[in-house]
Amino acid sequence: MTDYNSESERLEAQYKEIFMESAKVIRHEIDKFKPNFNCKTCTIPCDIKKVDIFEVFPPNCPYGAWQIKALSFLTNEYKAKLKIAKKSMMEKKNEYTCGKCGACCKLAVSEYSPIQLKQRAIRGDKFAKEFSQIYVPYESEDMAKAICPEYYDKLYDIMDPDERLYFYYCSKLGADDLCSDYENRPDICKDFPMTALKVLPDTCSYLPWHNAVEKLAMSIKSREDLIQFYKDKIG
Ligand code: SF4
Ligand code: SF4
Repeated sequence: MTDYNSESERLEAQYKEIFMESAKVIRHEIDKFKPNFNCKTCTIPCDIKKVDIFEVFPPNCPYGAWQIKALSFLTNEYKAKLKIAKKSMMEKKNEYTCGKCGACCKLAVSEYSPIQLKQRAIRGDKFAKEFSQIYVPYESEDMAKAICPEYYDKLYDIMDPDERLYFYYCSKLGADDLCSDYENRPDICKDFPMTALKVLPDTCSYLPWHNAVEKLAMSIKSREDLIQFYKDKIG
């Protein structure tokens, strides 16, 4: 078993491994559409030495249709398959309920400042709108750390040291660590954690679900990223 110096190292290595596997799987799917055409018999002027999906094929080249079919498959059938897998993964979360530890209310981290969040909210970002309505920034990072040291350390471990981050707490959290407006809490609270790729506090009751589906979530994410990559390159 490999020893990692930090959680971020472990996650990075795991994602890399999963990404490579996903790349192989997607390539295999794409190659199913590749025509078995012998370029030596072709009369179209062309200087392509080795046929690859990312080439710019001349008009009427049979491999041009390969690109179209492969991209259509990835962005329709394959994407739909990923969507179903994601839905089923998220439904498994419903086997658990919030343990009301309050950790996610006491500490939330964002790459966006309060002003940026408000700007995003104005532009129609639902998450930013709900978040900026209830979460307020900590006066200092030290205060954030003091309130929730374990979760802070866990979050800090996966952060990019060069990235500026902002720490927030929910203004609705009562002294008893419970939500003072539970019936009216926004969707971002009801749905937390919205993804299995999120770092959760050790006290979170969704942690067993998260740990069980983390690799699957990475696999889905890597395949979504790869589809986008193919779309950008040959779309
Ligand atoms: S045009 Fe297409 S089929 Fe013809 S030689 Fe080039 S890659 Fe091969
Ligand atoms: S961290 Fe998890 S268990 Fe704790 S309040 Fe948030 S969702 Fe509930």
